[in-house]
Amino acid sequence: MSSEQSVAKFAARRPDWELPQLQLEQLQLHPFDALRQATSRQPCPKCHKSRFLYCYDCAVPFTAIPSLQLPFQLSIITHHAELASKNTGVMAAILCPQQVQLHSIDQMPACDPAQCAVMFPSDDALLPDQLNLQQLQRVVILDSKWAKAKELNEHPALQGMARVKLPGCPKSCFWRFHTSGVTDEGMCSIEALHLLLRALAERLPDPSQRSPHHFDNLLWYFAFQHQLRTGTTRVSLSDTGSFEEGMPSRTDPETHVPSHIG
Ligand SMILES: [Zn+2]
Repeated sequence: MSSEQSVAKFAARRPDWELPQLQLEQLQLHPFDALRQATSRQPCPKCHKSRFLYCYDCAVPFTAIPSLQLPFQLSIITHHAELASKNTGVMAAILCPQQVQLHSIDQMPACDPAQCAVMFPSDDALLPDQLNLQQLQRVVILDSKWAKAKELNEHPALQGMARVKLPGCPKSCFWRFHTSGVTDEGMCSIEALHLLLRALAERLPDPSQRSPHHFDNLLWYFAFQHQLRTGTTRVSLSDTGSFEEGMPSRTDPETHVPSHIG
């Protein structure tokens, strides 16, 4: 499907909705050349499934990618019923393979709860500027539908950890939220992580990470795919597969990170 057809289909489904503009001019992104040059799906070297740009099951990129280091380990808690293809957390796992783990709530790595923070907008959640960054070793993101995220938040594996929420009510630019308008409830993992890091950047212990744009490349895949969705950029696939294969889909149930109590 061409990007124009995709956008037309969105519009037919939800005529009252517009995909929020991603403020690309406010991001400093690695050039998209490698992504633009990927013109066909290809078999993943690990699982041999046909994918575009990367394999979301194996977290394997098919092109050169920008190099990026997070200031902490990151657990993205996924629910097994929610498909990997729908989870933007896999983008973080591909871009920062040494620091990002996607796993279920039962697979939490051993860690001191006092050195962990869960992104969750509870009443007692801290704001980013209240986090002790000297201590912070691990951040946990609950990538799940809202009801499930509330349930996960109560899980014993997360007891004793601080909660942190993003200030305000940031809006998602994720195309997939289109179908049910859950933009008012939350955002996807990669957007939430980027906003958290932007809020923390100037206080990070490593001076080389303190630029407000240091972590923009977390949105490298996201911004490219957003451009495909909005028709701002194009790719011509040489086979009949659509670019949507291998990308989070707009048509399936959403998972997201609650950004505020809705
Ligand atoms: Zn694979």
